[in-house]
Amino acid sequence: MSREFIPLSVPNIKGNELKYITEAIKTEWVSTGGSFINDFERRTTEYVKSVGAVACQSGTAGIHLALVANGIGADDTVIVPALTFIAAVNPVSYVGAEPVFMDCDDSLCMDMDKVEGFCEEQCIFSDGKLVNKATGRQVKAMIVVHVFGNMADMEKAVDIANKYNLILVEDATEALGSYINKGKFEGKYAGTIGNVGIYSYNGNKIITTGGGGMVVSNDDKLLERIRYLSTQAKDDPLYYIHDNIGYNYRMTNLQAAVGLGQMEKLEDFIKIKEKNYRMYSDLGIDLIKFRDNTRPNYWFYSYITEHRDKLIEYLDSVGIQTRPIWNLICDLKPYRKCIKYKIEKAKQYWNEVVNIPCSTNLHESDLERVASEIKKFERTANGY
Ligand SMILES: *Cc1c(COP(=O)(O)O)cnc(C)c1O
Repeated sequence: MSREFIPLSVPNIKGNELKYITEAIKTEWVSTGGSFINDFERRTTEYVKSVGAVACQSGTAGIHLALVANGIGADDTVIVPALTFIAAVNPVSYVGAEPVFMDCDDSLCMDMDKVEGFCEEQCIFSDGKLVNKATGRQVKAMIVVHVFGNMADMEKAVDIANKYNLILVEDATEALGSYINKGKFEGKYAGTIGNVGIYSYNGNKIITTGGGGMVVSNDDKLLERIRYLSTQAKDDPLYYIHDNIGYNYRMTNLQAAVGLGQMEKLEDFIKIKEKNYRMYSDLGIDLIKFRDNTRPNYWFYSYITEHRDKLIEYLDSVGIQTRPIWNLICDLKPYRKCIKYKIEKAKQYWNEVVNIPCSTNLHESDLERVASEIKKFERTANGY
Protein backbone atom coordinates (compact mmCIF):
# COMPACT_ATOMS: atom_id res chain seq x y z
CA MET A 1 0.00 0.00 0.00
CA SER A 2 1.35 3.40 -0.90
CA ARG A 3 1.97 5.72 2.01
CA GLU A 4 2.52 8.88 0.09
CA PHE A 5 2.40 12.05 2.16
CA ILE A 6 -0.81 14.03 1.67
CA PRO A 7 -0.20 17.73 2.34
CA LEU A 8 -2.91 20.09 3.59
CA SER A 9 -2.87 22.61 0.75
CA VAL A 10 -0.34 22.98 -2.05
CA PRO A 11 -0.25 25.05 -5.24
CA ASN A 12 -1.33 23.75 -8.65
CA ILE A 13 0.74 25.41 -11.40
CA LYS A 14 0.22 23.49 -14.61
CA GLY A 15 -1.30 26.06 -16.98
CA ASN A 16 0.22 29.00 -18.84
CA GLU A 17 2.21 30.23 -15.82
CA LEU A 18 5.56 28.96 -17.15
CA LYS A 19 4.89 30.42 -20.60
CA TYR A 20 4.00 33.85 -19.23
CA ILE A 21 6.82 34.06 -16.70
CA THR A 22 9.27 32.97 -19.42
CA GLU A 23 8.00 35.82 -21.55
CA ALA A 24 8.50 38.25 -18.67
CA ILE A 25 12.06 37.03 -18.19
CA LYS A 26 12.90 37.00 -21.90
CA THR A 27 11.69 40.57 -22.30
CA GLU A 28 13.44 41.51 -19.04
CA TRP A 29 10.31 43.14 -17.63
CA VAL A 30 10.78 41.57 -14.23
CA SER A 31 10.14 44.38 -11.79
CA THR A 32 7.19 46.59 -10.78
CA GLY A 33 6.36 47.69 -14.33
CA GLY A 34 5.19 45.58 -17.25
CA SER A 35 2.12 44.45 -19.10
CA PHE A 36 1.38 41.36 -16.98
CA ILE A 37 0.63 43.59 -14.00
CA ASN A 38 -1.94 45.56 -15.99
CA ASP A 39 -3.36 42.39 -17.52
CA PHE A 40 -3.64 40.69 -14.14
CA GLU A 41 -5.41 43.74 -12.67
CA ARG A 42 -7.78 43.98 -15.63
CA ARG A 43 -8.53 40.27 -15.58
CA THR A 44 -9.32 40.42 -11.85
CA THR A 45 -11.55 43.46 -12.31
CA GLU A 46 -13.52 41.72 -15.07
CA TYR A 47 -13.85 38.53 -13.07
CA VAL A 48 -15.09 40.05 -9.80
CA LYS A 49 -16.89 42.92 -11.57
CA SER A 50 -15.24 45.70 -9.58
CA VAL A 51 -14.50 49.17 -10.91
CA GLY A 52 -10.79 48.60 -10.57
CA ALA A 53 -7.93 46.68 -8.94
CA VAL A 54 -4.43 47.42 -7.67
CA ALA A 55 -1.87 44.60 -7.49
CA CYS A 56 0.48 44.60 -4.53
CA GLN A 57 3.09 42.51 -2.70
CA SER A 58 0.82 40.58 -0.36
CA GLY A 59 -2.64 40.45 1.10
CA THR A 60 -1.23 41.95 4.28
CA ALA A 61 0.18 44.90 2.31
CA GLY A 62 -3.21 45.30 0.61
CA ILE A 63 -5.03 45.51 3.95
CA HIS A 64 -2.43 47.97 5.24
CA LEU A 65 -2.88 50.18 2.15
CA ALA A 66 -6.68 50.00 2.47
CA LEU A 67 -6.50 51.30 6.04
CA VAL A 68 -3.99 54.06 5.26
CA ALA A 69 -5.90 55.22 2.16
CA ASN A 70 -9.10 55.39 4.22
CA GLY A 71 -7.38 57.65 6.74
CA ILE A 72 -7.48 55.20 9.64
CA GLY A 73 -4.87 56.15 12.18
CA ALA A 74 -3.68 56.38 15.73
CA ASP A 75 -6.85 57.70 17.36
CA ASP A 76 -9.13 55.15 15.80
CA THR A 77 -10.68 51.82 16.70
CA VAL A 78 -11.34 49.04 14.19
CA ILE A 79 -13.75 46.13 14.70
CA VAL A 80 -12.08 42.82 13.80
CA PRO A 81 -12.79 39.08 14.19
CA ALA A 82 -11.12 37.11 17.00
CA LEU A 83 -11.01 33.95 14.89
CA THR A 84 -8.91 34.61 11.81
CA PHE A 85 -5.34 34.69 10.56
CA ILE A 86 -3.34 37.38 12.37
CA ALA A 87 -2.53 39.14 9.06
CA ALA A 88 -6.10 40.46 9.02
CA VAL A 89 -5.46 42.34 12.28
CA ASN A 90 -1.78 43.34 12.26
CA PRO A 91 -2.35 46.18 9.75
CA VAL A 92 -4.63 47.80 12.36
CA SER A 93 -1.55 47.91 14.59
CA TYR A 94 0.67 49.14 11.74
CA VAL A 95 -1.43 52.32 11.50
CA GLY A 96 -1.47 52.68 15.30
CA ALA A 97 -5.20 52.03 15.63
CA GLU A 98 -6.78 49.78 18.23
CA PRO A 99 -8.63 46.56 17.36
CA VAL A 100 -11.80 45.44 19.14
CA PHE A 101 -12.38 41.69 18.87
CA MET A 102 -15.66 40.06 17.90
CA ASP A 103 -17.02 36.54 18.05
CA CYS A 104 -17.83 34.34 15.04
CA ASP A 105 -21.09 32.71 13.98
CA ASP A 106 -21.50 29.17 12.62
CA SER A 107 -20.03 30.20 9.25
CA LEU A 108 -16.78 30.91 11.19
CA CYS A 109 -17.11 34.53 10.00
CA MET A 110 -17.74 37.51 12.30
CA ASP A 111 -21.09 37.43 14.10
CA MET A 112 -22.90 40.51 12.84
CA ASP A 113 -25.54 40.41 15.59
CA LYS A 114 -22.76 40.71 18.13
CA VAL A 115 -21.12 43.51 16.16
CA GLU A 116 -24.42 45.35 16.31
CA GLY A 117 -24.72 44.55 20.01
CA PHE A 118 -21.29 46.05 20.62
CA CYS A 119 -22.16 49.22 18.69
CA GLU A 120 -25.45 49.61 20.58
CA GLU A 121 -24.31 48.73 24.09
CA GLN A 122 -20.73 49.91 24.29
CA CYS A 123 -20.70 52.88 21.94
CA ILE A 124 -22.47 56.19 21.42
CA PHE A 125 -23.41 57.37 17.94
CA SER A 126 -23.67 61.10 17.43
CA ASP A 127 -22.63 63.62 14.76
CA GLY A 128 -22.02 60.74 12.38
CA LYS A 129 -19.41 59.25 14.70
CA LEU A 130 -19.47 56.00 16.60
CA VAL A 131 -17.47 56.40 19.82
CA ASN A 132 -16.49 53.62 22.19
CA LYS A 133 -17.71 54.70 25.65
CA ALA A 134 -14.87 52.95 27.48
CA THR A 135 -12.00 54.52 25.54
CA GLY A 136 -13.47 57.67 23.99
CA ARG A 137 -12.02 56.60 20.64
CA GLN A 138 -13.93 56.67 17.39
CA VAL A 139 -14.80 53.31 15.89
CA LYS A 140 -14.07 54.08 12.27
CA ALA A 141 -13.96 50.80 10.42
CA MET A 142 -14.80 47.13 10.47
CA ILE A 143 -12.70 44.41 8.85
CA VAL A 144 -14.87 41.49 7.79
CA VAL A 145 -13.03 38.27 6.90
CA HIS A 146 -14.60 35.73 4.54
CA VAL A 147 -13.19 32.71 6.36
CA PHE A 148 -12.05 29.68 4.33
CA GLY A 149 -13.95 30.89 1.24
CA ASN A 150 -17.22 31.12 3.10
CA MET A 151 -18.86 34.53 3.12
CA ALA A 152 -19.79 36.69 6.09
CA ASP A 153 -23.37 37.96 6.40
CA MET A 154 -22.84 40.93 4.08
CA GLU A 155 -26.40 42.28 4.12
CA LYS A 156 -26.13 42.75 7.85
CA ALA A 157 -22.55 44.03 7.63
CA VAL A 158 -23.53 46.70 5.11
CA ASP A 159 -26.55 47.71 7.23
CA ILE A 160 -24.35 48.13 10.30
CA ALA A 161 -21.69 50.03 8.35
CA ASN A 162 -24.33 52.39 6.93
CA LYS A 163 -26.10 52.86 10.26
CA TYR A 164 -22.90 53.72 12.16
CA ASN A 165 -20.89 55.34 9.38
CA LEU A 166 -18.17 52.67 9.39
CA ILE A 167 -15.71 51.95 6.59
CA LEU A 168 -16.30 48.35 5.56
CA VAL A 169 -13.10 46.51 4.64
CA GLU A 170 -13.50 43.00 3.22
CA ASP A 171 -10.59 40.70 3.85
CA ALA A 172 -11.39 38.37 0.95
CA THR A 173 -7.88 36.89 0.96
CA GLU A 174 -9.35 33.39 1.30
CA ALA A 175 -12.46 33.97 -0.80
CA LEU A 176 -11.45 34.92 -4.33
CA GLY A 177 -14.27 33.60 -6.53
CA SER A 178 -16.91 33.32 -3.79
CA TYR A 179 -20.07 35.25 -4.54
CA ILE A 180 -23.62 35.77 -3.35
CA ASN A 181 -26.26 34.12 -5.53
CA LYS A 182 -29.49 35.27 -3.93
CA GLY A 183 -30.94 38.38 -2.31
CA LYS A 184 -29.97 42.02 -2.27
CA PHE A 185 -26.37 41.36 -3.33
CA GLU A 186 -27.04 38.64 -5.89
CA GLY A 187 -24.08 38.28 -8.24
CA LYS A 188 -21.70 40.25 -6.00
CA TYR A 189 -18.27 38.77 -5.38
CA ALA A 190 -16.54 38.64 -2.01
CA GLY A 191 -14.42 41.78 -1.80
CA THR A 192 -16.68 43.98 -3.92
CA ILE A 193 -19.52 44.72 -1.51
CA GLY A 194 -17.84 46.89 1.10
CA ASN A 195 -15.74 49.99 0.62
CA VAL A 196 -12.63 48.00 -0.29
CA GLY A 197 -11.67 44.33 -0.65
CA ILE A 198 -8.38 42.44 -0.57
CA TYR A 199 -7.25 39.14 -2.16
CA SER A 200 -4.09 37.18 -1.39
CA TYR A 201 -1.96 35.01 -3.68
CA ASN A 202 0.15 33.42 -0.98
CA GLY A 203 1.24 29.84 -1.74
CA ASN A 204 -1.65 28.16 0.07
CA LYS A 205 -4.47 30.32 -1.29
CA ILE A 206 -6.86 29.21 -4.06
CA ILE A 207 -4.55 30.74 -6.66
CA THR A 208 -0.98 31.85 -6.04
CA THR A 209 1.71 34.14 -7.38
CA GLY A 210 4.25 32.82 -4.87
CA GLY A 211 3.33 35.81 -2.78
CA GLY A 212 1.13 38.72 -3.70
CA GLY A 213 -2.13 40.54 -3.19
CA MET A 214 -4.78 42.65 -4.87
CA VAL A 215 -6.98 45.48 -3.68
CA VAL A 216 -10.35 45.95 -5.38
CA SER A 217 -12.98 48.63 -4.96
CA ASN A 218 -15.75 50.44 -6.76
CA ASP A 219 -14.27 53.76 -5.66
CA ASP A 220 -11.88 54.96 -8.37
CA LYS A 221 -10.34 57.69 -6.25
CA LEU A 222 -9.58 55.31 -3.42
CA LEU A 223 -7.87 52.89 -5.82
CA GLU A 224 -5.81 55.71 -7.28
CA ARG A 225 -4.71 56.65 -3.79
CA ILE A 226 -3.81 53.04 -3.02
CA ARG A 227 -1.78 52.73 -6.23
CA TYR A 228 0.03 55.96 -5.34
CA LEU A 229 0.79 54.81 -1.79
CA SER A 230 1.96 51.39 -3.03
CA THR A 231 4.61 52.97 -5.27
CA GLN A 232 6.38 55.22 -2.74
CA ALA A 233 3.88 58.09 -3.12
CA LYS A 234 5.69 59.55 -6.09
CA ASP A 235 4.35 63.00 -7.01
CA ASP A 236 6.63 63.73 -9.94
CA PRO A 237 7.75 61.21 -12.58
CA LEU A 238 11.30 62.58 -12.70
CA TYR A 239 12.32 64.78 -9.79
CA TYR A 240 11.77 62.60 -6.72
CA ILE A 241 9.00 64.69 -5.25
CA HIS A 242 7.12 62.77 -2.55
CA ASP A 243 4.42 64.72 -0.72
CA ASN A 244 3.44 61.73 1.40
CA ILE A 245 5.00 58.73 3.07
CA GLY A 246 4.46 55.81 0.71
CA TYR A 247 5.34 52.14 0.65
CA ASN A 248 7.23 49.75 -1.60
CA TYR A 249 4.23 47.45 -1.99
CA ARG A 250 3.81 47.11 -5.75
CA MET A 251 3.53 43.66 -7.31
CA THR A 252 6.24 42.63 -9.80
CA ASN A 253 5.64 41.61 -13.41
CA LEU A 254 7.03 38.13 -12.57
CA GLN A 255 4.38 37.59 -9.91
CA ALA A 256 1.66 38.95 -12.19
CA ALA A 257 2.71 36.61 -15.02
CA VAL A 258 2.11 33.65 -12.71
CA GLY A 259 -1.10 35.23 -11.46
CA LEU A 260 -2.50 35.62 -14.94
CA GLY A 261 -1.90 31.94 -15.67
CA GLN A 262 -3.54 31.05 -12.36
CA MET A 263 -6.60 33.22 -13.07
CA GLU A 264 -7.24 31.12 -16.18
CA LYS A 265 -7.58 28.09 -13.87
CA LEU A 266 -9.55 29.62 -11.02
CA GLU A 267 -13.00 28.39 -12.03
CA ASP A 268 -11.60 24.89 -12.69
CA PHE A 269 -10.02 24.90 -9.21
CA ILE A 270 -13.33 25.89 -7.63
CA LYS A 271 -15.11 23.06 -9.46
CA ILE A 272 -12.53 20.53 -8.23
CA LYS A 273 -12.72 21.89 -4.68
CA GLU A 274 -16.49 21.64 -4.69
CA LYS A 275 -16.35 18.08 -6.04
CA ASN A 276 -13.82 17.05 -3.38
CA TYR A 277 -15.87 18.72 -0.65
CA ARG A 278 -18.90 16.69 -1.73
CA MET A 279 -16.85 13.53 -2.00
CA TYR A 280 -15.65 13.88 1.61
CA SER A 281 -19.32 14.16 2.62
CA ASP A 282 -20.23 11.11 0.57
CA LEU A 283 -17.43 9.25 2.33
CA GLY A 284 -19.03 10.08 5.66
CA ILE A 285 -16.87 13.05 6.66
CA ASP A 286 -19.12 15.88 7.83
CA LEU A 287 -17.60 19.25 7.12
CA ILE A 288 -18.72 22.71 8.22
CA LYS A 289 -21.25 24.00 5.72
CA PHE A 290 -20.88 27.08 3.59
CA ARG A 291 -23.49 29.83 3.93
CA ASP A 292 -26.80 29.42 2.07
CA ASN A 293 -27.33 31.71 -0.91
CA THR A 294 -23.63 31.86 -1.76
CA ARG A 295 -21.42 30.16 -4.29
CA PRO A 296 -18.32 29.63 -2.12
CA ASN A 297 -14.89 28.89 -3.57
CA TYR A 298 -14.60 25.85 -1.23
CA TRP A 299 -11.04 26.84 -0.35
CA PHE A 300 -10.60 25.07 3.02
CA TYR A 301 -12.52 22.20 4.59
CA SER A 302 -13.28 22.23 8.30
CA TYR A 303 -13.85 19.03 10.23
CA ILE A 304 -15.18 19.16 13.81
CA THR A 305 -13.87 16.76 16.44
CA GLU A 306 -13.73 16.53 20.20
CA HIS A 307 -10.21 15.11 19.89
CA ARG A 308 -8.45 17.82 17.92
CA ASP A 309 -4.85 17.32 19.02
CA LYS A 310 -5.00 13.53 19.03
CA LEU A 311 -6.56 13.48 15.57
CA ILE A 312 -3.89 15.81 14.16
CA GLU A 313 -1.19 13.66 15.74
CA TYR A 314 -2.70 10.43 14.47
CA LEU A 315 -3.15 11.67 10.90
CA ASP A 316 0.42 12.98 10.94
CA SER A 317 1.62 9.50 11.94
CA VAL A 318 -0.04 8.04 8.83
CA GLY A 319 1.29 10.73 6.48
CA ILE A 320 -1.68 13.11 6.34
CA GLN A 321 -1.12 16.76 7.10
CA THR A 322 -3.88 18.65 8.93
CA ARG A 323 -4.03 21.75 11.08
CA PRO A 324 -6.08 23.31 13.84
CA ILE A 325 -7.87 26.56 13.10
CA TRP A 326 -6.18 29.76 14.32
CA ASN A 327 -5.52 30.52 17.94
CA LEU A 328 -7.81 33.39 18.93
CA ILE A 329 -5.97 36.63 18.17
CA CYS A 330 -7.26 38.33 21.32
CA ASP A 331 -5.46 35.60 23.33
CA LEU A 332 -2.11 36.22 21.61
CA LYS A 333 0.60 38.26 23.32
CA PRO A 334 0.38 41.47 21.25
CA TYR A 335 -3.41 41.65 21.62
CA ARG A 336 -4.15 40.23 25.07
CA LYS A 337 -5.03 43.61 26.57
CA CYS A 338 -7.42 44.66 23.81
CA ILE A 339 -11.17 44.92 24.17
CA LYS A 340 -13.14 41.83 23.23
CA TYR A 341 -16.89 41.40 23.11
CA LYS A 342 -18.75 38.25 24.13
CA ILE A 343 -16.34 35.76 22.56
CA GLU A 344 -17.95 32.33 22.87
CA LYS A 345 -18.28 30.40 19.63
CA ALA A 346 -14.80 31.32 18.44
CA LYS A 347 -13.35 29.51 21.50
CA GLN A 348 -15.38 26.42 20.79
CA TYR A 349 -14.36 26.33 17.13
CA TRP A 350 -10.72 26.92 18.07
CA ASN A 351 -10.92 23.81 20.24
CA GLU A 352 -12.71 21.63 17.72
CA VAL A 353 -11.85 22.51 14.11
CA VAL A 354 -9.29 20.57 12.10
CA ASN A 355 -8.60 21.55 8.49
CA ILE A 356 -8.15 18.50 6.29
CA PRO A 357 -6.34 18.14 2.92
CA CYS A 358 -7.99 20.26 0.23
CA SER A 359 -5.47 20.72 -2.61
CA THR A 360 -6.85 20.71 -6.15
CA ASN A 361 -4.45 17.93 -7.19
CA LEU A 362 -5.75 15.34 -4.70
CA HIS A 363 -6.72 12.00 -6.22
CA GLU A 364 -9.87 10.13 -5.35
CA SER A 365 -7.72 7.55 -3.58
CA ASP A 366 -6.21 10.35 -1.42
CA LEU A 367 -9.67 11.51 -0.36
CA GLU A 368 -10.64 7.93 0.43
CA ARG A 369 -7.51 7.44 2.50
CA VAL A 370 -8.08 10.66 4.48
CA ALA A 371 -11.72 9.76 5.10
CA SER A 372 -11.01 6.19 6.17
CA GLU A 373 -8.20 7.26 8.54
CA ILE A 374 -10.43 9.89 10.16
CA LYS A 375 -13.21 7.34 10.62
CA LYS A 376 -10.78 4.77 11.97
CA PHE A 377 -9.45 7.32 14.47
CA GLU A 378 -12.91 8.43 15.61
CA ARG A 379 -13.97 4.79 16.20
CA THR A 380 -10.95 4.24 18.44
CA ALA A 381 -11.24 7.62 20.15
CA ASN A 382 -14.85 6.92 20.96
CA GLY A 383 -13.88 3.59 22.43
CA TYR A 384 -15.42 0.99 20.16
C1 LIG B 1 -3.63 34.80 3.84
C2 LIG B 1 -4.38 35.77 4.66
C3 LIG B 1 -3.98 37.11 4.78
C4 LIG B 1 -2.70 37.66 4.30
O1 LIG B 1 -2.33 37.42 3.02
P1 LIG B 1 -0.79 37.41 2.63
O2 LIG B 1 -0.82 37.50 1.15
O3 LIG B 1 -0.22 36.11 3.14
O4 LIG B 1 -0.13 38.59 3.27
C5 LIG B 1 -4.80 37.97 5.49
N1 LIG B 1 -5.93 37.56 6.07
C6 LIG B 1 -6.33 36.28 6.01
C7 LIG B 1 -7.61 35.89 6.67
C8 LIG B 1 -5.56 35.34 5.32
O5 LIG B 1 -5.95 34.06 5.30
